[in-house]
Order: sequence, then C-alpha cells, then structure tokens
Amino acid sequence: MSQTKWEIISEDILETQQKYAEKTRELLIKRYPRPLLAYVHSFGCQQNVSDGEKIMGMLYEMGYGFTDTVENADLVIYNTCAVRENAHFRVFGHVGALKPIKEQRPDMIIGLCGCMMQQSAVADKIKKSYPYVDIVFGTHAMHTLPQLLYQRLTGSKRMFSIENSDGSIVEGLPVKRIGSVKASLPIMYGCDNFCTYCVVPYVRGRERSRKPQDILCEVKKLVAEGYREITLLGQNVNSYGKGLEEEIDFSDLLSQINAVEGDFQIRFMTSHPKDCTKKLIDTIAACQKVCNHIHLPVQSGNNRVLKEMNRKYTVEDYLALIDYARKTIPGITFSSDIIVGFPGETYEEFLDTLALIKKVRYTALFTFIYSPREGTKAAKMEDPVPEEEKSKWLRQLLTEQSNIRQEMQEALIGKKLRVLAEGKGKSGDGYLTGRNVSGDIVEFSGEENLIGSFVDVQVEKALNWAVFGKLV
Ligand code: SAH
Ligand code: SF4
Repeated sequence: MSQTKWEIISEDILETQQKYAEKTRELLIKRYPRPLLAYVHSFGCQQNVSDGEKIMGMLYEMGYGFTDTVENADLVIYNTCAVRENAHFRVFGHVGALKPIKEQRPDMIIGLCGCMMQQSAVADKIKKSYPYVDIVFGTHAMHTLPQLLYQRLTGSKRMFSIENSDGSIVEGLPVKRIGSVKASLPIMYGCDNFCTYCVVPYVRGRERSRKPQDILCEVKKLVAEGYREITLLGQNVNSYGKGLEEEIDFSDLLSQINAVEGDFQIRFMTSHPKDCTKKLIDTIAACQKVCNHIHLPVQSGNNRVLKEMNRKYTVEDYLALIDYARKTIPGITFSSDIIVGFPGETYEEFLDTLALIKKVRYTALFTFIYSPREGTKAAKMEDPVPEEEKSKWLRQLLTEQSNIRQEMQEALIGKKLRVLAEGKGKSGDGYLTGRNVSGDIVEFSGEENLIGSFVDVQVEKALNWAVFGKLV
C-alpha cells in the first residue's frame, strides 16, 4: 500500500463552512416566508447512517426542519451506498422518481452524496443523464455541504465535489441524532484491507483513527444527554489506533470508554477476524459495560475462498477465536456476514460455509449474494455459477439459519434477560420493544416511561423474529 496522506481538517476550514452555514440561514429567512424542510435518506451501513446524522446536523444549523416524505421536501439528499449493485440501482430509481416533482417545483434542491458519488463512472452518469440534480459530493467532501448549498442557492451552476482523496478526519461537525436511546459513534474511518470483492477501500479512503480524547469527550457528552447504548463504528475497529501519536489499540480504547461513569452499554462494529486478538476478548470479559456479543463477519467457511477474498485468516483461526471467546466469556454470542457465490466458489465450498454456521450458531446472519463491483480484484475473476444457482444456495443457507435461530430463541424461554427498552412494541398498545445483550429483539408489556431504561424480562414465548416476555 502506498503511504497514507490523509489529513485532519483544520479549524480554519471548518470556520469557513460555519460562515457559509450562517449565510445560508440568513438567505433562506430572507427568501422564504416559512422554514424549509429537508428529506435526508441514507442507504447502506451504519457509518452511512452516522454520516446522515451529520448532514442533518449541518442542515439544522442552516435553518432546515425535517420531513419524512420527498413530496413535502424543499431539499432532498440521498446519501448513497456502493457496496452492492442493488443499493446502486435503488438510488438511480429514487433519483429518477424526483424528476417530475422537480419539474413542478423547480426551487427544490436535490443533493446526492456518499460512497457511490466517489465512483467517477457514477458522477459522470449524473452529470450527463440527471441534469436536475443540483449538488453532488463524495465521502471526502461532506463537511463542505454549507458552501455547496449556498453557492447553488445563489445561482452557481450545479455543484460537484467528488475529488479522490486518501480521506480526512473532521471533528466538531454538528450532529442531529435519529434516536434518543442508542447512538453510534465513529472511532475510525476508511479501510486498508482490500478484501478482493469490496469497494469500500476505494470510496472511503485510507484507514484513519480519531484521537482517543475526541472519542472520550463524545462518549461523555452522549452519556450526559441520556443515551444508554453507544455503538463504536469502523470498518475494522480491531485495527483502531494505527498511525496515532500515542500507543493505543482498540482494547485500550474500550477499557477507557468502559471507565466513563454512567449507566450505559457499549457495542462495536465491525470486527475483522484477522485483527481480533485474545487481548480484545479478555478486555470484553473485564469490561462490564461492553456487551458480550461480537459481530464477527466470516464471509465464507472455506479456506480457498477466504484466501481468494484476501481475508487473511483460515476457518481454523476463526473457530479457535470463537472457542477462546466462549471459554473466556460464558454465554457470549456472535453474529456474522456471509457472501454466497464468490467468483469460482463451488457448491462443495459453499457447503463448508453451511457447516461453519451450524458449528458457530450465530444469533444473526447478514447474507449477501456476491455482487461484482467495478475496480475490485474479484470483478475480474471468472464467475461461472449462474445467479439462479447462487440464489438456491442462499435459500439453503437462510433455511438453515432460520432453524438455528428458532432453536436459539426457544432456548431463551424461561430465562431472565436484561433488556434495553428502546421504544413501542410491534404487538400493539401497552407493549415495548428492546434488545438483550445478544441483540435479540425482545417484546414485553410495559409502560412507555420505561423507554430508555434497562429492564429484566422473563421470556415466555419465542417466535423467529423476537422473543416475548413479561417484566420481572
Ligand atoms: N468492514 C466490514 C464490512 C463492510 S461491508 C467487514 O469487513 O466485515 C458489509 C458487508 O457487505 C461485508 O461484510 C460483506 O459481507 C458484504 N459485501 C461487501 N462487498 C460485497 C460484494 N461485492 N458483494 C456482496 N456482498 C458484499
Ligand atoms: Fe470491505 Fe474488507 Fe474493508 Fe470490510 S475489511 S470494508 S469487507 S475491504
């Protein structure tokens, strides 16, 4: 890998953006008799959702309110995802649907941002075929939204800010959080792993960690605001700390966050198995606030496929890690991501994945049919297995996982679970919903004033999607 050249965005640059935000606010007040409404939608992963909260934070400072429908919106922003083809096509579908609305309301501003915009072919297509899109910015230019918006509002041509870059760290952007119980907090950005199927390292830049002081400051603020669960985010949180001035790794950071006073729990994602150390497992065991659950994407249960994917671990390494974690932390659970139909994967190799999920017994699986991404190594590999065949394998995997999950849910009957009450339940009035430490959905009867607290629930019934119980 070439040397990294990522930068920390200076206070001067942020001050300039702050001034643009103020100017936009004044302009909108002068120009419109009512506050304008923005619709912001983020596709894809939690990092994107977290970026979406910053975009909303900046818009809020500029005077925008928010709406759930594009029909009511004066500004629409789609924060896009490039990880798989279906997300890619969905974005174009959504943007196409805005054309007639914009024809009726030419004042409406349409913005596109996120990972897809960092791909030059996509940006070119928007330039040529979607002339009604006003603002396009990539993942590295998110903090310049106030400037882009101001310039467009004051008559500039369509704005494109999509330079390629190793990335940056921007501290201090305003955030408008979607929830009031759970918050996500990025601790690092980018990825240097170059798994051969994955586009993330090309669109999110080089791996870079936030300073521990900045992270701790944000954790304390969230706890003071009453958040009960904080999810630390990164493409590979286990390699946190590389390149920072001080010697610190992810385990050290977890211990420091665990020491912050308050009644809250800590989750993190994603953990790459190649960097998941015994030290990390020991730290989870020692840290009361860290949930005893790891999302540990395995991708495949076959060593040849894992090698072709450039994952840098074997099935044996992975299982040894799971074994160590189970011995060290009784009751620990795991969830995972699986790719079905990687180029050249045979049915026999797929069966190894099936065997692995039976062995590990995950509480949840996120399963994907391999999707070729332009510019990645795997996109150039021979891929002879037809899509219908891959779909059959996926269905087989899903059936197996559904059986495993049903058994695991049923095993919870009679048990007392500690649950973070997150909101109203799906089972009707008087029901609340939450999750236990493993991330299982738990529905129970309870008053709304319990939302945002930890409660004990005795499980009485299990369906595949949730367990049901009563407050103890
Ligand atoms: N950094 C995380 C994952 C980020 S992408 C990790 O390494 O675990 C989330 C998931 O999308 C991946 O775990 C993988 O299962 C899936 N994914 C990524 N690229 C894909 C592709 N080209 N086709 C299908 N699934 C893909
Ligand atoms: Fe993609 Fe691999 Fe990086 Fe995860 S670790 S973001 S799968 S390249």
